[in-house]
Amino acid sequence: MKLKHAARVILIGAPGVGKGTQTERLLSRFPQLQSISTGDLLRNNVKQRTALGIQAETVMKAGGLVDDSVMLRLISNELRTRGWLSAPASAVMSAASEAVQDGQDITDEPPFSRPSDDPSASFILDGYPRTPVQATTLDSIIPINLAVSLVTPFSVILDRITSRWVHEPSGRVYNTGFNAPRTPGRDDITGEPLTQREDDNLEVYSRRLQRFKETSEPLLEHYAKKGVLVEVDGMSSDEISPKLFDEFEKMFVR
Ligand code: ADP
Repeated sequence: MKLKHAARVILIGAPGVGKGTQTERLLSRFPQLQSISTGDLLRNNVKQRTALGIQAETVMKAGGLVDDSVMLRLISNELRTRGWLSAPASAVMSAASEAVQDGQDITDEPPFSRPSDDPSASFILDGYPRTPVQATTLDSIIPINLAVSLVTPFSVILDRITSRWVHEPSGRVYNTGFNAPRTPGRDDITGEPLTQREDDNLEVYSRRLQRFKETSEPLLEHYAKKGVLVEVDGMSSDEISPKLFDEFEKMFVR
């Protein structure tokens, strides 16, 4: 389906809610959309031994958050490479933040003063922004125009995760709830034993959930204040997708 307006989107959802699944479905339904993952960008930089990658590597290895200024450089480089930003981040930021302070639309002409509404400049950001500071920074260079909060009851997600079994050699995934192996505990094709991922357990999930709650609440608040937040709920990915498509169509197609 063709977009009429540029979609600049982030999905916010608890671990296990199926953000990846929804992203894939959105990308195939709306081919103009592209996904930008800061985790992937960072890992590429590390692999290529760029100055930025070398700087970020230690923090990433320790499981910490990479510095905001490094993240800003990373994301603005990427947007510039794609042709969606036409000035250095510093110029963009100061011009945009002045405009934001005025509380007005920008009407004069500098090429970077207003984000393109060209539908080919449409993206879903994955992994960024993670904090309100990053969200404010991003809004000043290229404002998000739709933040979707994906909601599935935690008990349902937990159920799904703890009933997940994998056949490691092939990567085949089973779920005792809705996609059970023919013989319990055995791979359908090879008959080999299935295992559970180390992080597919209650304790690890609860920890990740707690961290998600702490970081997502201020982000949700940020986007609610901007008037771009919508909530889409469902018990499964299949229930969520049509509602999500609907939101997209309302905003970017009609
Ligand atoms: P994860 O979901 O495990 O955090 P990602 O692939 O999204 O995986 O990110 C990998 C690492 O990259 C993170 O652990 C963090 O160190 C860094 N990173 C990614 N996005 C950001 C961000 N928005 N702010 C700070 N650090 C980030």
